[in-house]
Amino acid sequence: MDIIKSVTEMQQRAVSARTAGQTISFVPTMGFLHQGHLSLLEEGRRRGDLLVLSIFVNPTQFGPGEDLDVYPRDLEQDSQLAQQADVDIIFAPDAKDIYPPGYATYVNVEGISEPLCGSSRPGHFRGICTVVSKLFNIIQPQVAIFGNKDFQQLAVIKRMTLDMNLPVEILGLPIFREADGLAMSSRNVYLTQDQRKQALVLSQSLATAKELVGAGELDCAAIIAQLKKNIAQQPDARIDYVQICHQLTLEDQIRVDADSVLLLAVFIGKTRLIDNSHLVTFCEITNND
Ligand code: AMP
Repeated sequence: MDIIKSVTEMQQRAVSARTAGQTISFVPTMGFLHQGHLSLLEEGRRRGDLLVLSIFVNPTQFGPGEDLDVYPRDLEQDSQLAQQADVDIIFAPDAKDIYPPGYATYVNVEGISEPLCGSSRPGHFRGICTVVSKLFNIIQPQVAIFGNKDFQQLAVIKRMTLDMNLPVEILGLPIFREADGLAMSSRNVYLTQDQRKQALVLSQSLATAKELVGAGELDCAAIIAQLKKNIAQQPDARIDYVQICHQLTLEDQIRVDADSVLLLAVFIGKTRLIDNSHLVTFCEITNND
């Protein structure tokens, strides 16, 4: 496994691999790897001759006062995990090489990047789309693998890829969870022991919503009100958003249907956590028919 920091060297390796007829699969991350990331790498290994993992804490997707400076980093441990996952190349550039002096070009997706995280983190998706399109140009993958954990991010990247005719297949994989239901996240490390327990309110809210829907409650406002009440019972919880949206447009829905996704962003103390789930499974739809 090689660790490449240079943009030029990475691009040259990609060109050579392409010329040799190899398929490049790509997993973009901010590092501090956990099993969620590893599940993406496992699929990447299956899908590509050359598996590239990027580790880059991208400054342009963080807003003022967010956790850019304290975001957990451990390249040594990540390298060991990547090696075990049979990664071929870790691309870990410096921010000054991705955004050199004079840098002035940004990619902005309208519409679906505006609600939810886009509204509470202005500029977040502009930063993500910019860095992902640059990484696509540097690494030249045929397939790129993302997690459904960041549901809106995946939707925005699919939109960008389609709109810009980028020759990359975008795959989204299921959310990998701790045994007790908490969605794995590099940011979970910020939680104190007590906050870690309170953080379960996110996955529990998804379960509660599905139970409500299963019992016949299809009114989004009623479901959201119930969830907000539950979340507010946690002493360190502060709700950013609790919304039920159409899975493709991310527009708020009035009644739950087969396209409904529940999306949550909740601060537990200073740590902002997100989670999401579809609300209706295929079986439930056919049963209701
Ligand atoms: P991050 O390093 O947090 O920016 O995440 C890098 C990629 O891993 C993104 O595509 C995330 O959606 C994905 N990811 C993060 N957490 C999980 C998880 N618990 N399960 C599956 N994928 C995840």
